[in-house]
Amino acid sequence: MEGMIDAALEAKVANTKPKDFDEWIVRMMGTGIADLFMRPYNFKVWAVPTTKVSKVLAERCRTRLTAPQMQCQWLGERVAAPDIKTVTRNVILQKTAGNWGPNATFRFPAYGGTGGIWIAVAKTLPKEKTRFGSHGTVKEIDADSKRVTLEDGKTIGYEKLVTTMAVDSLVEKMGDKELINLSKDLFYSSTHVIGVGVRGERPERIGDKCWVWPTFPSNSFNFHILISPQLYFPESDCPFYRATIFSNYSPNNQPSPSTKLPTLHLADGSKPSSSNPSEGPYWSIMLEVSESSMKPVDNAHLLKDCIQGLINTSMLQPTDQIVSTYHRRFDHGYPTPTLEREGVLKQLLPKLQDKSIYSRGRFGSWRYEVGNQDHSFMLGVEAADNIVNGSAELTLNYPDLVNGRVNHERRLVDGAQFFKSMKGIRSGEMPFCPVKG
Ligand SMILES: Cc1cc2nc3c(=O)[nH]c(=O)nc-3n(C[C@H](O)[C@H](O)[C@H](O)COP(=O)(O)OP(=O)(O)OC[C@H]3O[C@@H](n4cnc5c(N)ncnc54)[C@H](O)[C@@H]3O)c2cc1C
Repeated sequence: MEGMIDAALEAKVANTKPKDFDEWIVRMMGTGIADLFMRPYNFKVWAVPTTKVSKVLAERCRTRLTAPQMQCQWLGERVAAPDIKTVTRNVILQKTAGNWGPNATFRFPAYGGTGGIWIAVAKTLPKEKTRFGSHGTVKEIDADSKRVTLEDGKTIGYEKLVTTMAVDSLVEKMGDKELINLSKDLFYSSTHVIGVGVRGERPERIGDKCWVWPTFPSNSFNFHILISPQLYFPESDCPFYRATIFSNYSPNNQPSPSTKLPTLHLADGSKPSSSNPSEGPYWSIMLEVSESSMKPVDNAHLLKDCIQGLINTSMLQPTDQIVSTYHRRFDHGYPTPTLEREGVLKQLLPKLQDKSIYSRGRFGSWRYEVGNQDHSFMLGVEAADNIVNGSAELTLNYPDLVNGRVNHERRLVDGAQFFKSMKGIRSGEMPFCPVKG
């Protein structure tokens, strides 16, 4: 609280913008919250410290001349400073803050997870125009002759190319030394996604409310935040920064209770009393762990360490029966908003565009603040619109604008929906109409 009051007083007289992410944190929340939550939590998420890095860490970034440091422009104007009066009132009355912002509630597919959305979108495309799978992998791009060579030897010509592969891979495939050198100053972290399937009912203590610390016995749990149904972990007693109760999203995300599965092992690693398959019910947790040259991860033991972390944080009991596990590493996980990023992107993307290449998407255009699924989709839509009729690419160029308002005017419309809306058959809360003008 003291740090927060100091920060609020200092904000009143500050006449400069914070120069990096760490300064932003301290100015917004004060040193107390910075040390207790923001610094450790953000290091776990980004795998880059918010503070200036030590020489030892810097030396780990072998491919770069300098160690990356995070900027704060990516936070935009949209993160309001905490209201000190509300915070004080909530602390005194021991109340949970309401209003968790735009992520407090969201819709999720009943079947097929997030991928279900994009499979459905892909089905709206003419089949003969798509090439999914390894035979569609791009091996080489000849920007001069405007030809793409695929893994199976097929070549495809283009006038304008919209590409969503990571821009550092793109310039490699182009074999363009100048662009390769430029891209070297972009930094990213890798993400491990770990899944754990558990037999039994989801424990009541996990629930689906916001702050969960009063219900947990462990003191170390004070700063775990639950935004239904995700939990955020700044502490060092578990490798993950976020846990998602995946079974809360949809009952179809886990086997039905009558499905018989054997127990692989107990949460503490010991053998189950029986290896015979038996019935559920089941619940599941998805964990995310970051990795970078500045935050190495013990790949071989990560799954085991995560399950131990679940016990340490009271998410699992040592005797819980584990019925399934999953571990996948995404090499390009988070595009890091470093101090150098904009300097690179402001040269790299226009240079590519001069060659008729539109590099867009989470790692295509490397801007985390417009790198979620909805953003990435719109980056592609707006690139195509720009090519066809020269319209402005709002998501790419005006992140604060698109993040600060609801998109009412651009909706995904397939032909059938559109013609139904023309006939007045479909009238939802949003009109299904193509872009005007
Ligand atoms: C751990 C994690 C959690 C996330 N959580 C959320 C969330 O909660 N909400 C949210 O909105 N977003 C989330 N995201 C972000 C989301 O995954 C991205 O916004 C989205 O996938 C970006 O889409 P994209 O098309 O730009 O890139 P991608 O989905 O990465 O697609 C790029 C495609 O290019 C293909 N490609 C690469 N190289 C080649 C090549 N040589 N030839 C042919 N194809 C190639 C790849 O195979 C891939 O299919 C999360 C991401 C991670 C890693």
